[in-house]
Amino acid sequence: MSNGIGIVGGGLLGLGLADKLAARGVNVTVYESSPQLGGLAGSTELGGVRVDRFYHAVTTSDQRVLDLADELGVNVRWRRLGGGFYHDAQTAEMSTPMQLLTFPGLSAADRARLVRFVLRPATWAVFAAALDRTAGEQATE
Ligand SMILES: Cc1cc2nc3c(=O)[nH]c(=O)nc-3n(C[C@H](O)[C@H](O)[C@H](O)COP(=O)(O)OP(=O)(O)OC[C@H]3O[C@@H](n4cnc5c(N)ncnc54)[C@H](O)[C@@H]3O)c2cc1C
Repeated sequence: MSNGIGIVGGGLLGLGLADKLAARGVNVTVYESSPQLGGLAGSTELGGVRVDRFYHAVTTSDQRVLDLADELGVNVRWRRLGGGFYHDAQTAEMSTPMQLLTFPGLSAADRARLVRFVLRPATWAVFAAALDRTAGEQATE
């Protein structure tokens, strides 16, 4: 019987560790309870496209992830980061005032209420006061 190592969990940690051990010639077995690998960093299919199961972003300063991608021969293609909401089989951003006003998932009345809420003079003051209390004035500034 050959010696080997069993790793419980086929998420990023388990798979990364398995890869490192296997590269050193260790006989590794990964035990994963779910039908697919990847754990929190796994993907799922949405409208014929594979997307993150949870939102994930890699930035140019994530050196360890970039090194890992390099080791695995994964070609990283950089894209501008945007935020989108999937609604009624289409994605729409809601970051700028114009996107907010044209967001397809809101009725005209909903939009008007949201704009009124955002423009309420008290909104920022209430938020800033809460931030001051919890994070301190320096964080707010
Ligand atoms: C919403 C969200 C956004 C995130 N965004 C980022 C990001 O932008 N950048 C970033 O670096 N990180 C991000 N993270 C964190 C990142 O997803 C996790 O740190 C990473 O995926 C954790 O990997 P892991 O292998 O430690 O755990 P997991 O991904 O949880 O993997 C554990 C695996 O073990 C399996 N398992 C559990 N128990 C058993 C068992 N008894 N037997 C067999 N299998 C078992 C599970 O099914 C799972 O597949 C985000 C996380 C979330 C939730």
